[in-house]
Amino acid sequence: MSIRENLSQIREHLPDKVTLVAVSKTKPLEDLQAAYEAGQRIFGENKIQEMTLKWEKMPKDIEWHMIGHVQRNKVKYMAAYVSLIHGVDSLKLLKEINKQAKKHERIIDCLLQVHIAEEDTKFGLSEVELRAIAASEERNTLENVRIKGLMGMATFTDDKAQIRREFEKLKNLYDTVQIDFGGLSILSIGMSGDYKIAIEEGSTMVRIGSSIFGARNYQ
Ligand SMILES: *Cc1c(COP(=O)(O)O)cnc(C)c1O
Repeated sequence: MSIRENLSQIREHLPDKVTLVAVSKTKPLEDLQAAYEAGQRIFGENKIQEMTLKWEKMPKDIEWHMIGHVQRNKVKYMAAYVSLIHGVDSLKLLKEINKQAKKHERIIDCLLQVHIAEEDTKFGLSEVELRAIAASEERNTLENVRIKGLMGMATFTDDKAQIRREFEKLKNLYDTVQIDFGGLSILSIGMSGDYKIAIEEGSTMVRIGSSIFGARNYQ
């Protein structure tokens, strides 16, 4: 099936309140262009250098989301244009994003990534660390970042009950820290293999790659 057909099939499954991020990492510009021509305007990448090259070449009404792990020394390369950073996992990183956003006179929207997988391999804050950021006074002094919500990745498994349990845990946490953060509107959970479960568990933003663009080739 074509990228256009894949996109329209996925959109049929998405409630209005759920935003689709098309994860285009490793994919060539012509694939992004095909998605763009099918109406897609939000793209997710996990490497800053690759995202910046694509931002330079693609139409300027695209929103670029950084969904990967972010190294502090690379924030400066995306601060001019990035519209949402999903993978913020420390106050230190938040401070660096604030500093770079300020240089560009921007406010950069961020999500805090929480470690929800029962497996041990994925990045993210523990619940205790998340609550510490919520309670920190320093966070309130960061005028050029806005914490819009939480992001999580479930364990890579066929066990649907486990995936559901992990998403449910994050949704509960999302609800309980709402007040601390003065209101959150984005819960970024769900990828190609698990987005339907994520939506049932309260996702407001899904990040879908291979179901749109096909399997990725890593060299
Ligand atoms: C690659 C990636 C996705 C998309 O994965 P698919 O299984 O191809 O849909 C979503 N979120 C993050 C953080 C990713 O790195």
